[in-house]
Amino acid sequence: MTEQSSSPRTVLVTGGNRGIGRAIAEAFVAAGDTVVVTSRSGDDGPEGAHTVRADVTDSASVDAAFKQIESEFGPVEVLVANAGVTKDSLLVRMSEADFQDVVDTNLTGAFRVVQRATKGFMRLKRGRIVFISSVVGYTGAPGQVNYASSKAGLIGMARAITRELGSRGITANVVAPGYIDTAMTEELPEEVKENYRSMIPANRFGRTAEVASAVKYLASEDAAYISGAIIPVDGGLGVGH
Ligand code: NDP
Repeated sequence: MTEQSSSPRTVLVTGGNRGIGRAIAEAFVAAGDTVVVTSRSGDDGPEGAHTVRADVTDSASVDAAFKQIESEFGPVEVLVANAGVTKDSLLVRMSEADFQDVVDTNLTGAFRVVQRATKGFMRLKRGRIVFISSVVGYTGAPGQVNYASSKAGLIGMARAITRELGSRGITANVVAPGYIDTAMTEELPEEVKENYRSMIPANRFGRTAEVASAVKYLASEDAAYISGAIIPVDGGLGVGH
């Protein structure tokens, strides 16, 4: 039997100062949780959330952030590994540095925060991990060999953690957004966006709040028996995969 979650919980959202992470932080703030967001810049997250500076490519920085959070807000009970970057180019032109940088932030960065959070989860005998992957992690996309590899890796990570720590009240799940209206998609040329829209059964890009809803559910008591799962939030784009 796992111990019941206390309320409010301490929720950490990496990269919660903007985009999808910010909407996730907002949703947990609205639910009454104690929310901490990290950003490299130290830029603030939404109103009601606390901000701690951390770079997920640097384990010392991650450790320092956790120490600060634990001393100010208590142990992290919900971790949303959201921080991510893209460095797109076609395979033949992709530099090894661009492959490694994306994997280092999106996949190894998630490993760094999850490993650090798990120490606390094991003491608490409970914990929720939600990885923000992408539909591209299983459908693939041209120009995104680095990004797709990193996002597919998160699925394996969640499933390995499920098998390793499932008996300790810890769940690890994946939310896989499709195209969501954020700075990341805003940069795309209009004709590319139109082309994507035409492939999405819902015929529109998603909203950040729609991703946040799925994350909030996976972190809730109602989802205690769900682990190693992927929830797509993609308007049907990845259906069948
Ligand atoms: P944004 O570019 O708006 O935000 C990315 C966030 O990640 C920022 O808060 C940024 O912090 C943070 N970040 C980047 N690198 C690091 C790092 N080394 N250490 C700590 N934080 C870092 O992206 P989105 O909101 O669009 O994306 C959020 C997540 O959702 C990503 O993992 C992305 O891959 C995924 N996703 C996005 C989709 C979309 O359509 N937008 C679709 C599918 C998945 P800082 O401000 O300090 O740079």
